[in-house]
Amino acid sequence: MFARASKARPTEFHRLLDSAFDRVFHFTQNVDCLEDKLSSLPHKTLRLHGRLDTLVCQNRNIHTFQITPEEFETKVRSRCPRCDKADKIRVAAHDTILVSFGNANIGT
Ligand SMILES: [Zn+2]
Repeated sequence: MFARASKARPTEFHRLLDSAFDRVFHFTQNVDCLEDKLSSLPHKTLRLHGRLDTLVCQNRNIHTFQITPEEFETKVRSRCPRCDKADKIRVAAHDTILVSFGNANIGT
């Protein structure tokens, strides 16, 4: 999907928004980032559903990553590399979490 979207070109309407209006906000549900192919429209655009070229970690939304169309299929299914790195550091420091369920008798 990202590879196909990256080949799309802005329409005449995109070009009109880009050049004709200084005080316009462009709200879009599209994630294809067509606006980035124009000069001023990216600064006027609010993307309601994000963008295909940026992944956001589901655990910590401050972890964001730029990706290419070629990376999309593999990285969209991968764990967050920043969370993975933090996990490895915790394991290396023997900072494990012990969970105890006690001696509860279930079913008696
Ligand atoms: Zn993360």
